[in-house]
Amino acid sequence: MRAPVKSSGSSSPAASILAAEAGRGPDRAVGASGRLDLFDLLAEHAHEQVSLYYDPSTGYRGIIAIHSTVLGPALGGTRFWSYSSDEEALIDALRLARGMTYKAAVAGLNLGGGKSVIIGDNRTTRREALFRAHGRHIESLKGRYITAEDVGTSTSDMEFIKAETNHVTGLIGTSGDPSPVTAYGVYRGIKACAAYRYGSDSLAGKAVALQGCGSVGYHLARLLHAEGARIICTDIDPQRVKRVVEDVGAQAVGTDEIYDVRADVFTPCALGAVLNDATIPRLQVEIVAGAANNQLAEDRHGDLLEARHITYAPDYVINGGGLINVNAELHGWAPERARGKAGEIYDTIRRVFEIAREEGIPSYRAADRLAEQRIAAVTSVRRNCV
Ligand code: NAD
Repeated sequence: MRAPVKSSGSSSPAASILAAEAGRGPDRAVGASGRLDLFDLLAEHAHEQVSLYYDPSTGYRGIIAIHSTVLGPALGGTRFWSYSSDEEALIDALRLARGMTYKAAVAGLNLGGGKSVIIGDNRTTRREALFRAHGRHIESLKGRYITAEDVGTSTSDMEFIKAETNHVTGLIGTSGDPSPVTAYGVYRGIKACAAYRYGSDSLAGKAVALQGCGSVGYHLARLLHAEGARIICTDIDPQRVKRVVEDVGAQAVGTDEIYDVRADVFTPCALGAVLNDATIPRLQVEIVAGAANNQLAEDRHGDLLEARHITYAPDYVINGGGLINVNAELHGWAPERARGKAGEIYDTIRRVFEIAREEGIPSYRAADRLAEQRIAAVTSVRRNCV
């Protein structure tokens, strides 16, 4: 599966994120009767709990989905969105919660997977009462679920939640912008791909095609440049391209041209679903490794990359630095410790490739295997040890 998660702290447009995430979800949302079979939906991917809460005084309608608390409390952001139906909102919450379980598991964090959604127009100015209602909803779960920012919510919304519960991260003045940590994790992940592909993890002299010169893309460009990589970049925002060109001597190309660039690495750091039927045949690289969430338009595009002998670093493994940053805030880690943990993405990516080779499966499936192995191991310990 693809871990369908937008890291809190990213500022990509909500609509495109949601569109990019419209991938695989629970498959049997609606039963033969045409009705929503709620417990079948939970059973399908072994979700532990769903909580629904309506507050008539504010009109708050919220859903909290907890996929797994095996590794720790379920962490995942609050998404505020005008869903076309309650079912759509529920399925989104379930799918995103499950993705968080996998992401935390491969990042080696003691966190489970959860997600919440508030149904409504996220442009509303009546935020305090709404987010305090959400805070009370979270508080009722007594720490089984911890929230953070996501599409349609901001740090100031988290402050309203904080007035009602301590189970919230991403507050003003705390862990701050996760992008440098995410970029460092991606950089380490790219090095792991190089080690696997070329037998050396040095990026000196390698050409990297960077799509997206935003928060993560910019920090990543600096790290790559410092190691002697040559960068070819693109962005829809000319100012952001200019900064990368000026600061690291990158060569700019058009937004569509980036797929045809002859390079060693293609690094998607903009949108999801950029690896699809139209783009994969055009790629002239040996490695695809970048920060964007949900890069594969569909799972089968991971197979297509494999068929083209392109080494693919599964997105939710390589971009785990954002979640590591949130975890650092939760546990009061110093910035160096968060960076060190993000650096471990190097070993995780290598382990993913090992599993892929041992089991003869594509890397995106191997990542799921790795997550499931860790969850199963902890489950056994809990069952066997007093
Ligand atoms: P950002 O919004 O700062 O940067 C994204 C950049 O992509 C922007 O500069 C935007 O103009 C550009 N862009 C948009 N559409 C484009 C297109 N078609 N072609 C080229 N460029 C385009 O976001 P970010 O925080 O840098 O995150 C980048 C990606 O990484 C997102 O997919 C995000 O979900 C993911 N991610 C971010 C973090 C984090 O810590 N920020 C963590 C995990 C995953």
